[in-house]
Amino acid sequence: MRAVVSCEGCGHRQEVAREILAPSTFHIICHRCEQSLVVSVTEADLRTAAAMRRYRAPIS
Ligand SMILES: [Zn+2]
Repeated sequence: MRAVVSCEGCGHRQEVAREILAPSTFHIICHRCEQSLVVSVTEADLRTAAAMRRYRAPIS
């Protein structure tokens, strides 16, 4: 899945550059204020993302 993170310091929203395939916690640096942000991706987040992908898929 692709994650979008809002910075706690300045509110800047940024997309995580890499694809997330498993539940994990990692850090990114805000591009605007350079604050370190903790990103937590849970099993539920991945399930929701997968469900949205299915919903958007064309019916053949
Ligand atoms: Zn920021």
